[in-house]
Amino acid sequence: VSGTGKSTIGRELFKRNARLKLSVSHTTRDARSGEVDGRHYHFVSRAEFEDMVGADGFAEWAEYVGNCYGTAKSTIETAGRAGHDLLFDIEIQGAAELKAQYPDAVTVFLLPPSWDEVSRRLTLRGTDDAETISQRLERGRVEVEAARSFDYLVVNDDLDEAIEAVEDIYRAARNRASENLDKLDALA
Ligand code: 5GP
Repeated sequence: VSGTGKSTIGRELFKRNARLKLSVSHTTRDARSGEVDGRHYHFVSRAEFEDMVGADGFAEWAEYVGNCYGTAKSTIETAGRAGHDLLFDIEIQGAAELKAQYPDAVTVFLLPPSWDEVSRRLTLRGTDDAETISQRLERGRVEVEAARSFDYLVVNDDLDEAIEAVEDIYRAARNRASENLDKLDALA
């Protein structure tokens, strides 16, 4: 849900966990002030985006309030080769698609404490006009319907607590036996 602090939480986790990297998505939306091409998103035109869809270049993609967003297959492959863990900051359709392709992926749904708070945060951010904010709110209300199919639900009421909760989830996932079988071999 837009305005729940997904990117704020991600930023903090990247500082604390060197192996964790953002999956930098491709999008057709305009860059907000402060957003850097290649770091926050790969900003592309609709034609470029469509070419990538045609070339089967996306692991998943979705439309969100008038723009397209997608995770390039190459982004996932490059991270895998580098031994990085990836954090995907994506909406629910994309999350479901990735989970279907990568069943080991851990999904976390960030819930806002209230809709008033989402509205307040989106307004404070000052990057969207009133119409876009109301569309994002409407989309958010639809998105929470899907929350029960996620592995974890975290309410971002207190930011520090939400950061800790997501970090706990990441740490636990990293310590799953299936992720560490090479250590068994190393001991033998
Ligand atoms: P924003 O415009 O606020 O950056 O992003 C709008 C929504 O698109 C957010 O919910 C964000 O998580 C989602 N999003 C960003 N990148 C991707 C992506 O690669 N795939 C999908 N499915 N959603 C994305």
